[in-house]
Amino acid sequence: MLTRRNALKLVAGAASLPLLPSKAHAAPLTYELRPEKLEQGIWMVPGAQQAITQKNGGAIANITILDSSAGAIVVDTGPSLRYGEALLKLAQELTGKSVARVYLTHFHPDHCFGNQAFDPALIATTQGVVDGMKALGEGFSDSMYQTVGDWMRGTEVVLPKVILSAPVEDFGDRRIRALPMRGHTASDLVLFDEVSGVLISGDLVFLDRAPTTPHADFERWRISLANLGGIPHNRLIPGHGPAEPGDRGIRQTREWLEGIEAMIRDAFDRGLDMNEAMALPLPKWAENIAVSRYEYERSVMHLYPKLEAEKLPRVDQKS
Ligand SMILES: [Zn+2]
Repeated sequence: MLTRRNALKLVAGAASLPLLPSKAHAAPLTYELRPEKLEQGIWMVPGAQQAITQKNGGAIANITILDSSAGAIVVDTGPSLRYGEALLKLAQELTGKSVARVYLTHFHPDHCFGNQAFDPALIATTQGVVDGMKALGEGFSDSMYQTVGDWMRGTEVVLPKVILSAPVEDFGDRRIRALPMRGHTASDLVLFDEVSGVLISGDLVFLDRAPTTPHADFERWRISLANLGGIPHNRLIPGHGPAEPGDRGIRQTREWLEGIEAMIRDAFDRGLDMNEAMALPLPKWAENIAVSRYEYERSVMHLYPKLEAEKLPRVDQKS
């Protein structure tokens, strides 16, 4: 049969031309979502424990799918339109139902750039998340197109239409509690499934992967971690990393934040410049945490300007 591929080979062979560059042959980019079943009717699609790259297409965040008698519930939508489309299909296949609700945990692009695949009237979050998407969405979009390229084709920022006002939502046999917190960003939405006792923390918890801090308030984040630790749960699904019973993710995130903040403050107080602070060795325990060096260096860049603003006298204020 003369398929397009064979035809290309014939043309290439006849003219003794080298095969077309590999890019022209490459299959269309497709995300392979591999859901892990955690509990009855609850799956997590794990993100790669990496930075956002062209290779992973930005699919680095955990996504949760819950079945309910009223339909599928999806928590976060991934990094692109293409991811969102694959996620919608997966949620329908796993549950055998249409989507009843989509929740967004926060405004970072690896968590909410798949929105376009879903009906905006079903996407719910806090006012703060919507405000963050309005303020920063286009900038995130530019940097995502630059970093991951073709994976992003056709992706646009789509704002949720539902601002959560009630503390719980019922979906037939499932009741989801919405817990607004902050610290990783100005508005982080935590979700708790009262039936299974599964706690979905968004990026307030990272496990075996270094936390990202570009919009962090370290003090608020520690308070939120303490609050999360006070919620009895059977399993915690972090924004990044394995979903486990217990509090290992909460503890590790707190240790990381306290550890690197102390290190960076100490470097600043000793008069090191930003490059010297970035070059400091990380403690031994940080070696087992993915992208620790990369995120530590980014945190130096985020924190140094804040420390300078805190410590240096302002010229417009007389003492
Ligand atoms: Zn985040």
